[in-house]
Order: sequence, then C-alpha cells, then structure tokens
Amino acid sequence: MKINENYKNLAESYLFSTIAKRVNAFTGAHPEREIIRLGIGDVTLPLARPVVDALRAASAEMGEKATFRGYGPEQGYDFLRAALREEYARRGVSLEENEIFVGDGAKSDIGNILDLFDVDNTVLVPDPVYPVYVDTNVMAGRRIVYAAATRENGFLPMPDASVRADIIYICSPNNPTGAAYRRTELQAWVDYANQNGAVLLFDAAYERFITEPDVPHSIFELEGTKTCAIEFCSLSKTAGFTGTRCSYTIVPAALERGGLRLNAMWLRRQTTKYNGVPYIVQRAAAAVFTDEGRRATGEAIDYYRANAAVIAAALDEAGVWYCGGRNSPYIWMACPGGMKSWDFFDFLLERAGVVGTPGVGFGAEGEGYFRLTGFGDAEKTKIAAQRLRDAIAAL
Ligand code: PLP
Repeated sequence: MKINENYKNLAESYLFSTIAKRVNAFTGAHPEREIIRLGIGDVTLPLARPVVDALRAASAEMGEKATFRGYGPEQGYDFLRAALREEYARRGVSLEENEIFVGDGAKSDIGNILDLFDVDNTVLVPDPVYPVYVDTNVMAGRRIVYAAATRENGFLPMPDASVRADIIYICSPNNPTGAAYRRTELQAWVDYANQNGAVLLFDAAYERFITEPDVPHSIFELEGTKTCAIEFCSLSKTAGFTGTRCSYTIVPAALERGGLRLNAMWLRRQTTKYNGVPYIVQRAAAAVFTDEGRRATGEAIDYYRANAAVIAAALDEAGVWYCGGRNSPYIWMACPGGMKSWDFFDFLLERAGVVGTPGVGFGAEGEGYFRLTGFGDAEKTKIAAQRLRDAIAAL
C-alpha cells in the first residue's frame, strides 16, 4: 500500500503547544504570578438563554416517542435553512434553500470542500491567516502560492494580475489580523475570480463583529458572486457554539466548473460522507435567528467588542501600531522595539503576566506581530490591558 506522503510536508503545529509549554514553565517558576490569557481564539461566555431553552425543549422532544427524530436530512433541517435564508434576505441576499448546507463547523466544511477540486490546482492563500487553509491543501498535495498581507497593504492583499490561482481563500474579517475588506476591495477579488475561472472560498466566521457599514458581511452582497464564490460561516463566534458545533455553507446553484454544478457535487459529497448536525443543535441554532436570540447573542458580541476596545485603547496610550478590533475580536499589534513575535511573547509573559499569540505562528509575514483577543473576561482584560501598556512604557 502507499500512504499519503503529503502528510510529511505538513509543518508541525507547534504554536499552541509551544505557548502552553512556555506558560507552564513560567507558572512553575513563578507560582505567585497571576497569568491573564488574551491568546485564546475561543469564546468564554455561556450560551444565550433562548439557545439553552431551545436545546432543552428539543432534548425533551427526543425523549418522547411521538417527537423523537432519527437521521435527519444531511444538509440540515428545513426549519434552520429557512431561518438562514431569512437571515441572508435581511441583508438583501436572495438564496434558495437548497443553496444552504448546515454543517458541524466551518473548519470541517472548509477542509471537506476540497473533495470537489482536483489536486492539480493552484491555491492562493493570504499570509498570515487561519492555518487550516494551508494545511488542508498540503495534505492533498496542491500547489500553494501566498498573497502577502503586510502593514503596507493594511493586511488586505489585493489581486495580482500576474498570479494565476484556481482556488482563492479570503477571510474577512480576518483571523489573525482583524482586517476587513471594504465592498470595492472585495469586488476586485470577485472580478478577478470571474475573469480567471477561479473559485473564491470566503470565510465569514467573524461577520458578526463588523461595525462599519462599508464592510460586507457576506460575499453574496456583491455583484457576480453566484458564479464564483462559496461562503462558510459558523455559529461558533456568532453565538458561542465552539463546543456546540453548527455552521452553514452556501454553494450557489449557478456555480459551475468543468461542466459540473458545485452545489450538486457538494450535496452528493455530504449525503455520502456525512449524516448531519444533531436535531437539538439545529433547534438551538434556529433560536439564534429569532428576535430574542439576536438580542441575546448580540450582547455577547458587544461584550467581546468592548474587550477589544479596552486593549486597543491601551495600545493607543502606549503609541503602538495595531489594526483590527473595529470589525473583529482580534487586535493585531506590531511588536514594540522591533521585537520578533516570540521575543515579545516572552517579554509580555515575564513583565506583564499576559499571554498572547505570536503572529509568526500564522505565517511568515506575521513575524514581528502579535495577536490579542477580546474573548476573555472583561475585568481580567482591563487588568491585562493596563499591564500591557505599563510594560511597553517601561521599555
Ligand atoms: N474560520 C476561521 C477564520 C476561524 O478563526 C475559525 C475558528 O477559530 C473557524 C473558521 C472554525 O470555526 P468552527 O468552530 O466553525 O469550526
């Protein structure tokens, strides 16, 4: 037999294990120091009340013969797809229900969508970015080219006519930089994809954090997207579903390549390899899109946004360059004093007892930068922000 040797080409994912090791070594040596973690990309607030009520009610249904459900439709129950269709309609995006696929996470869908594409395609990935785009393509053995996201381009790379790519990843608002494309910028990517026959894979995981009106929440708000784009979104950051698991992927009916409809291919893929999200989770997800659900989940988003603003204010006071925070829970800061990402990690841990994420862990262009998140506890974030400011001031 022959193994998939592409796995040999994966860079070891040392980032979070190295962080854990360094933090453990530090707390071992300084048990008296209180460490505050602003490195995590996970939510910390509990599920909203309407979501929990829906979970309870659906669980009770599952315990009664008359309302018990077994296998559900692989692409999601009608009630949730109708709620999602309505959600898109609120933004002026018209979708058919069969263009909406419910899944167990944007991570899985982003990885699994690659089943639709031949290995012999060139993939364009921004650098730095959410590492899953690169690793899933390395596993498959595809060629990867990088679009450098730098301070000069506001961490928002634009299409380069001299680069040929077949599959293009866009994450807006971005993890880790928090940068978000404006309408005209995003339209340039859509036009590039249509002109080159490429497919745009648009990751909207952080769309709920957008505050600026000119930043699209969905790629489908733009012209000409139904012939070139697939969108991934998730309730993980929208509604605290990181441990509950529910996402949605939009594959337009009009999207065709090589004489095949990608929507039909994805349906075939999902019905063959997947049995859907639990009924109780889909009921909980539908509760997010009620008036009460929107209000309650919106409060959590505001809480995280306020944390990001606290961090941003501390960096303003310290005179440190950063982006993000406005449309994102992430703050992406330049390491002060020209420090490298890991040097600043150690500096911040030792001087301030604050843990963040070294930017270089998200790609080579992330060297010299650092990610802080608004997902922590509000009081602890305030303390951490003060310590961050003071540590930089003492440099
Ligand atoms: N996309 C981005 C940009 C993310 O940062 C994350 C999670 O951190 C995901 C997708 C995955 O989310 P999910 O929990 O839906 O798998």
